[in-house]
Amino acid sequence: MIRASERAMGIEYAIRDVVLPARELERKGIKVIRLNIGDPGKYDFQPPEHMQEAYCRAIKEGHNYYGPSEGLPELREAIVTREKRKNGVDITPEDVRVTAAVTEALQFIFGALLNPGDNILVPSPSYPPYVGLVKFYGGIANEYLTVEENGWQPDIDDMRKKINERTKAIAVINPNNPTGALYEKKTIKEILDLAGEYDLPVISDEIYDLMTYEGKHVSPGSLTKDVPVIVMNGLSKVYFATGWRLGYFYYVDPEGKLEEVREAIDKMARIRICPSTPAQFAAIAGLTGPMDYLERYMAKLKERRDYIYRRLTEIPGISTTKPQGAFYIFPRIEERSKWKSDKEFVLDALHEAHVLFVHGSGFGYAGDWHFRIVFLPPVEILEEAMDNFEAFMRKRLS
Ligand code: PLP
Repeated sequence: MIRASERAMGIEYAIRDVVLPARELERKGIKVIRLNIGDPGKYDFQPPEHMQEAYCRAIKEGHNYYGPSEGLPELREAIVTREKRKNGVDITPEDVRVTAAVTEALQFIFGALLNPGDNILVPSPSYPPYVGLVKFYGGIANEYLTVEENGWQPDIDDMRKKINERTKAIAVINPNNPTGALYEKKTIKEILDLAGEYDLPVISDEIYDLMTYEGKHVSPGSLTKDVPVIVMNGLSKVYFATGWRLGYFYYVDPEGKLEEVREAIDKMARIRICPSTPAQFAAIAGLTGPMDYLERYMAKLKERRDYIYRRLTEIPGISTTKPQGAFYIFPRIEERSKWKSDKEFVLDALHEAHVLFVHGSGFGYAGDWHFRIVFLPPVEILEEAMDNFEAFMRKRLS
């Protein structure tokens, strides 16, 4: 047998891992309600018309060539305008890089920051690629606690305790996946103060920035004075175009501390040539076009969020914090005597109730004894899922 690398074989991705047993059931003709993947395009959400048209037009008009590694100048200009409007940041197109979605931005940033044995502070629980990609690039994902009793806000004291001489950056995911938390301005300020104290950059994942139900998103990029912040965003969530694989990031670096990191990132960007050219035309249309679709979509999402939250609070054996952003809810399993782990719980629910959740421990140690539910589907589907799940819980707890 030809051996694969340990680096690649060591990758874990809980969100897709639970799909195999679900597929097994489906092969036997059993209908499974999948609430495991955060992809709006699988339900009644599509990118707005003007973006779709711009994408098709770009292809038809011959924009099918390689573009610049850093992204098309018109798009970088549009990103500056969008981000000035949203975050009031003082940046120019020179500070912006376009990527194959946030996932590639993470690869560039971790690849440029990490030597073997270095670490990045990442939230626990967190979106799994933070742990997986940091490890892939030879680093250690150094998890800091976010506190459920405090609406899943980061624990600044814990963050401070976790910083050591090999820490290279602090990653913040806000609004958060999997908890749906929206961080307070005070928390963001405290994170920036801490980063400043230890001379660390902040990496800010803002992919859900305009997807909030209560309150508004605050970016560390908008509050920083001297701490370097790398802000990431893209088309996948707020613009409902997950499959187009387009995103961007930019540097807010008032004192020029990231000069070498920027050079390293540009080297990585050049060897991968460029992001998709026609998708960038669609992005220009999205970032400069009307946003009325978002209001309609957020109204649907809020109805779904309110529905699933109400149903979950009526089910025995679990407790739930109300998410304030994104489209995930992360209940806690209170009754633990019936299962050995949260993964066993999720598999039991899959086999018995035919609903697919993701086990919380797949999102880091603070996710232990929780599970994540995606509430993107219409209420009728959520209703069926919750009816099945409620019957399952009542049976198990009787
Ligand atoms: N960051 C967070 C917090 C996410 O939840 C996701 C997807 O679920 C991503 C990044 C992936 O974004 P992209 O599609 O832009 O790679």
